[in-house]
Amino acid sequence: MSFEVPDLPYDYSALEPYIDEETMRIHHDKHHAAYVNMLNGAVEAAGIEGKTVRELITDLDSVPEAQRGAVRNHGGGHFNHSLFWEVMGPVNGEMSSELNAALLEAFGSLDDFKAEFQKAGMTRFGSGWAWLCSDNGKLKICSTANQDNPMMGSEYGGCGLTPILGCDVWEHAYYLNYQNLRADYMTAFFNVINWAEVSKRYSETL
Ligand code: MN
Repeated sequence: MSFEVPDLPYDYSALEPYIDEETMRIHHDKHHAAYVNMLNGAVEAAGIEGKTVRELITDLDSVPEAQRGAVRNHGGGHFNHSLFWEVMGPVNGEMSSELNAALLEAFGSLDDFKAEFQKAGMTRFGSGWAWLCSDNGKLKICSTANQDNPMMGSEYGGCGLTPILGCDVWEHAYYLNYQNLRADYMTAFFNVINWAEVSKRYSETL
């Protein structure tokens, strides 16, 4: 079965005024769809159908070399965006006591976490992602280039950690509303984090 773009779990306009409807439509319906289409083509060409996208991007060495770059880019794109839609929402939800304690231990305060997360996105030159990751429960912030993911091996830009929150800092994620102002977009992003979903993902890493 081919990979498919998951439906947004809320309306395209649900994240306004922080992320506008047109950006969400283009980002989900065009950009994410393109990653899925390209991933399906690469998987078919490689004859490696039947794996999950997570299995593919965490074991890129097993992908035939001719399609490895495409699976890295478009498999990463599919996985990263699928996570991105879910860790955002019109309702912030409740942060679990476990995640709250881990955040305070790692960063000192929620504001300090936000500052470090934003710095990770701001210092990513070009396109990529800022990530909050769990290292067996210990929280760490990192960033990746392009559509790389922390779960990928180090030779593919990853660090082997499990991401529980990600912010897309490609210009396509914010340019219509924020133009070149990535910092303003990232500040707005904090208002649409679905902490209940991030907490659920954190609990799965413990
Ligand atoms: Mn994107």
